[in-house]
Amino acid sequence: MRYAETGFNLEIDLSRGNIERVETDPRDTELHLGGLGTNAKILWDRVPPEVEPFSPDNLLIFSTGLLCGTPAIGANRTIVTTYSPQTLLLAYSMMGGFWAPELKYAGYDKVIFRGKSPNLVYLWINGDKVEIRDASHLHGKGPLETAELIKDELNEPKVQVAAIGLAGENRAYYASIEHGRSSASRLGVGAIMGDKRLKAIAVRGTKDINIARPAEFMELCNQVLEYIKFRQENPIKGVPPILASLGSPQEMTLRDEEWHTTSFSWGHARRRRKDFWTKEREEKWTRIQDKAVLRLLSCYNCPNKCGATISYPALGSPRYMMKCYSKLTYVMASMSDDLEFGFKIAGQAQEYGLDGYTTPQVMAFAVELYENGILTDKDMPGFPPRSPNGSDEERFFWLLDKIVRREGIGDVLANGVYWAARQIGKGAEAYDHNTTKKHEQMVIKLGMLNPIYYLMYGTGEKVNITQIEGQIPQAPFPSQELREEFVRDWIQVPTGKEERFKQFIMEWGDEGKVFPYYPPADLICDLVEWQEMMHYIDDATGVCAGLSSFPLKPAYHIHNYPAFISAATSIDIDEDGLWEIAKRNRTLLRAINVRRGLRGKDDEPPADHWRRRFPEYEAKLKDEYYKFRGWNSDGIPTKETLNGLSLDYVGKDLEERGILGDGKAEGALKTSTGEGSEK
Ligand code: SF4
Repeated sequence: MRYAETGFNLEIDLSRGNIERVETDPRDTELHLGGLGTNAKILWDRVPPEVEPFSPDNLLIFSTGLLCGTPAIGANRTIVTTYSPQTLLLAYSMMGGFWAPELKYAGYDKVIFRGKSPNLVYLWINGDKVEIRDASHLHGKGPLETAELIKDELNEPKVQVAAIGLAGENRAYYASIEHGRSSASRLGVGAIMGDKRLKAIAVRGTKDINIARPAEFMELCNQVLEYIKFRQENPIKGVPPILASLGSPQEMTLRDEEWHTTSFSWGHARRRRKDFWTKEREEKWTRIQDKAVLRLLSCYNCPNKCGATISYPALGSPRYMMKCYSKLTYVMASMSDDLEFGFKIAGQAQEYGLDGYTTPQVMAFAVELYENGILTDKDMPGFPPRSPNGSDEERFFWLLDKIVRREGIGDVLANGVYWAARQIGKGAEAYDHNTTKKHEQMVIKLGMLNPIYYLMYGTGEKVNITQIEGQIPQAPFPSQELREEFVRDWIQVPTGKEERFKQFIMEWGDEGKVFPYYPPADLICDLVEWQEMMHYIDDATGVCAGLSSFPLKPAYHIHNYPAFISAATSIDIDEDGLWEIAKRNRTLLRAINVRRGLRGKDDEPPADHWRRRFPEYEAKLKDEYYKFRGWNSDGIPTKETLNGLSLDYVGKDLEERGILGDGKAEGALKTSTGEGSEK
């Protein structure tokens, strides 16, 4: 009997209209757990590096995590994995909500799509009955409207739907997949879904999931629930309110926006407005938010209400779900002072199916090019003037429509800042200042280099820092009392690292113990690894990072995770074993990207993320980290490292391709505009 997982994947060939239920290999679960880990294994095995993102041979995998659908609190992530049209590397984007548990209850761990449908279709999974259905009547519809129409036509109000909007249908590189209560929005997974002519996946399931040792498992779940309650009642002291609790940052209840509006950059990630937040603004924004937030929402089996239904009389779009920083991304990029504008445009963009993080950055980039004469009225006929309040609100609505339809300049901007800059030319590349590995990054600009974030930004495979960071405070605690209080019950620290990590917190900020040359490189490597490993465990189990790898002092950690996994699956695993799986998954992702052309020179944060940079020290740090990870000086995992993680077949492949060995082989990726992906 298989426990926690169903042991079956659905394989859908959209070119032929073929549907198969395929039993999976339990050995893969032991080696990679599930979710992102097994997705990576499938992509390695089945998609050669020469395959372009918009090729029918690219796979699009919707996966549950190993613990999804079990009573584990917050185990609800759907992990969508494919090759990104934006970075040309592996993309993995995740969404919460209810979709993944429903797929498990339908009897499947993953749905794997290959090929391309000749017409727009949707997949209807109703337990054992699975069919590909015509979706021509859904063409151009928003994801939320699509979900409602599908529920009506199937007469199944409880069905869970993941869908794309017009942006995905038109293959905008930052198109999202929306699921009512969450979205998989980074790295263009919606564009791949649109390219496959797949409008939506509707799923309904009523089967049970087997748990190996149910009583033990429920006891662990109760402990996590109790801890969440404790943390809700005892927020961390000495950090900004947004970082003090568990879950996705609690933007929907938070009214104090001083931290975001004064620390993050405005416009095209250029300007700080340190005096923006005033009492009057706080009162005005509070009134707007109170009117807009209809009710707070949780994902499946989680007590934290991180999201909210947004309903605003001024909205031209339907009610939608919002969480986290998307409340402010459009406001700040457009230099607007008006939160109402933010709610309005975010709703419209979501119904188009666009990533709320990248989209405003691309639009601010276009505005900057226009203001500097690189884009002109000839390129953008009808582009509105600046709004009377000095913001770019009207321009943003104009650009949004062009991008989503790929009309005129929108066809170029729909490819994201990196590619658009190279297509536009005329010096536009110089304005591509906030991407890493061709992808838009956090709009935060700081003074002094943070060596921990330098490594996380540069060497991470996920691109977006929020999926790598967590657990370490972003700044030293200002007093000895706060430091002592923080380390007193810091139980999440890995075994053997307690003293050093606690000493770091106790000293950090003292004279001589400040960035960039503090802490020592070996400790930096340990801290970065810890943060990364916890994310890789979450991504394999399907547990929300908001309860585990992302916040300070989370509910799930390296000490209780093995017991969860063992009790759920009957796989005998301890902390070391789990760490090794996380390392294996992390290394496999690295190898996939290396096979697609990633090299050490690509491992760099955005050029001006910090004002004070230290090129020699940074190079040394990166080198230390590569050694720590068992990678060579070009960021490629060595054969010994791969063999030690039971990834011998990866080393052999890299050797045969000349990537390992003499090190002379060039990457498989083409890097000039338009060549990386089929149009
Ligand atoms: S912590 Fe928030 S984002 Fe995470 S599962 Fe719970 S409600 Fe969803």
